[in-house]
Amino acid sequence: MAGFEEERRRLVERLVREGIIVSEKVKKAFLAVPREEFVPPEHRPWAYEDHPLPIGYGQTISAPHMVAIMTERLDPMPGDRVLEVGTGSGYQAAILAEIVAKNDPSGRGHVFTIERIKELAEFARRNLEKTGYIRYVTVIVGDGTLGYPDMAPYDRIIVTAAAPRIPPPLIEQLRVGGRMVIPVGDAWGQELLVVDKTEKGIRVKRDVPCVFVPLIGRFGWRD
Ligand code: SAM
Repeated sequence: MAGFEEERRRLVERLVREGIIVSEKVKKAFLAVPREEFVPPEHRPWAYEDHPLPIGYGQTISAPHMVAIMTERLDPMPGDRVLEVGTGSGYQAAILAEIVAKNDPSGRGHVFTIERIKELAEFARRNLEKTGYIRYVTVIVGDGTLGYPDMAPYDRIIVTAAAPRIPPPLIEQLRVGGRMVIPVGDAWGQELLVVDKTEKGIRVKRDVPCVFVPLIGRFGWRD
């Protein structure tokens, strides 16, 4: 049986072959972040299967191809300040930290990530600690549909749960020239939206179909 590093390399090669990973920065981040450290121990053997895995509390770590698609569409840059809504396992936050902060000489790059379930925020914090990404990531417990005004505006915002509409506070907290990716739709399926904020307002592009767990909160679905 191949070790995790070899499995990771094979998964990345497949995602490149399938045209899902296209940029060098996303490829490097996927090769660097050990997904097996972000899944519960009983699911480790499947860490490099391309599907979502349960992380407890009815939530999931997204499938690698979906993390890759969202990261490619978000197009994060070294030095960016990123807000993620839906921390889950912390894996997507680590991928983002690898791109915006780990190799950022300016020291400005940082990921702020919000999770509504306290126990999952703790799970993510532990995963980020043992992989060394915690110094580039701040994990906050709260309702991410309200954003995190303390550190706004953000260069990039990524929402990793399904929203009924784009939460207005997230548009407000995105800087002009910034970009947000967010799955919008109903409980059965959504479309990934790529939202660019300009001086005149927002420009929304519809991207791939997707299925995420619901975004629950003031500007999301009701609990
Ligand atoms: N990005 C995660 C990862 O890398 O493991 C996967 C996220 S999982 C698909 C969606 C997460 O969004 C769940 O952990 C869920 O509890 C969280 N969530 C749902 N509504 C939320 C809200 N209003 N604010 C913050 N987190 C929320």
